[in-house]
Amino acid sequence: MAANTASPAAGPARPGLMGLEDALQRLLASVEPVAGVETVPTAAAAGRVLANDLASPLDVPGFDNSQMDGYAVRREDVARAVAEGRALPVAQRIPAGHFGCELAPGTVARIFTGAPMPAGADAVVMQEDATPAEPPADASAAEAQAAHGWVRLGTVPTEGQWVRRRGEDVRAGAVVLAAGTRLSAAELGLAASIGSASLRVHRRVRVALASTGDELIQPGELPADRLPPGAIYNSNRYFLESMLQRLGCEVTVLGRVPDDRAATQTALTEAARDHDVILTTGGVSVGEEDHVKPVVQALGALDLWQIAMKPGKPFAHGWIDRAHAGGRGRCHVLGLPGNPVSCFVTFVLLARPFLLRLGGATVAPTLPPALPMEAHFDLPRADKRREFLRVRRNCVGGLDLFPNQNSSVLTSVAWADGLVDNPAGSVIAHGDTVRYLPLAGFLD
Ligand code: AMP
Ligand code: MG
Repeated sequence: MAANTASPAAGPARPGLMGLEDALQRLLASVEPVAGVETVPTAAAAGRVLANDLASPLDVPGFDNSQMDGYAVRREDVARAVAEGRALPVAQRIPAGHFGCELAPGTVARIFTGAPMPAGADAVVMQEDATPAEPPADASAAEAQAAHGWVRLGTVPTEGQWVRRRGEDVRAGAVVLAAGTRLSAAELGLAASIGSASLRVHRRVRVALASTGDELIQPGELPADRLPPGAIYNSNRYFLESMLQRLGCEVTVLGRVPDDRAATQTALTEAARDHDVILTTGGVSVGEEDHVKPVVQALGALDLWQIAMKPGKPFAHGWIDRAHAGGRGRCHVLGLPGNPVSCFVTFVLLARPFLLRLGGATVAPTLPPALPMEAHFDLPRADKRREFLRVRRNCVGGLDLFPNQNSSVLTSVAWADGLVDNPAGSVIAHGDTVRYLPLAGFLD
């Protein structure tokens, strides 16, 4: 076992580079949740962020009920019947959604899952532990006519056996979902279980997505055999748009912004007017023939960060004053690197929590917790930066490494199901325990 499972946050960043956790904390500190709130039907609230605490108006379940198809009984009656080897008369039948009457002493009730317990019953015997029986010879004529036959029970149930108690899931008045919760399938079911037909949620975050680079061609614009020399297809836009939608954002695709100052200025000024964030890709590395930086600096402010991580070192963060477009307030700008893997990794580790917080979600100012997993690969050369390696779980409980870790190789991300968060300066040997971050946790 190697020692590289310690939190990399503890290690010093290289001089001149910013630690990833520092960058995350600064980003989150710079953002206030959007103010708007709206009411949406519960069925349409998946992916949205709850705007207020949701308290339950009732106990769930609202009444003691049976957890099994079987017989509601008085335990003392069963104890006597078992001791005497007698069958018991089934005096009533209670399906789910119906209410029985008080259980007369010496009788049982046929009951079905979810049906309310009749008064007087203190346990349920499941039907697998009961056998239909003939009335005993000494039963009176009236008893022998028991409405629903007779039954022989094998054992005496324990107190409350197979009974779901009123309020055991939710107590009336309890907050079942806190403000800032992102609503996924289970939360919608929970909200429905307390009768919420609609939910108050934060409005969607409006994001404008801009791809910089004269080399970029949209898929569909030109077929592969007619691409000009040096041109490539724009891939970043596609995974970013998809991830933004899955985050619940309203996305405007600005498309390719040409490497030209006037065009960049026009595109960003207009986008700033009616968006909360402009997300750009490309042109934030050092020495770039780039117009995003001077344009944003002229319209507001932009910091270029060099983050101590690989891939994804360059990252830009700033804002545009909407007054330049006749509006009010500021529009955030996030600049992601152009290399697709760097773009992907900085999106999930930095832009995603930023956008969630902007959308009102409660977000921890740290990376999600990593899982200890066994490396089934070697990484003999340590990097000076904290590295996020594309890996995949194998069927023997370990992690395999994608062979090409270059930050331009998008195949590695499509292949991977997680990232190994490898501290700066660490080598990895087969069998070492490493820090695994499942990608699934970043994609919804
Ligand atoms: P840049 O950050 O602009 O220096 O770009 C770094 C690398 O990423 C270059 O090879 C670009 O061609 C490439 N790149 C930039 N934007 C995109 C994009 N939207 N899709 C695919 N590759 C891109
Ligand atoms: Mg570029």
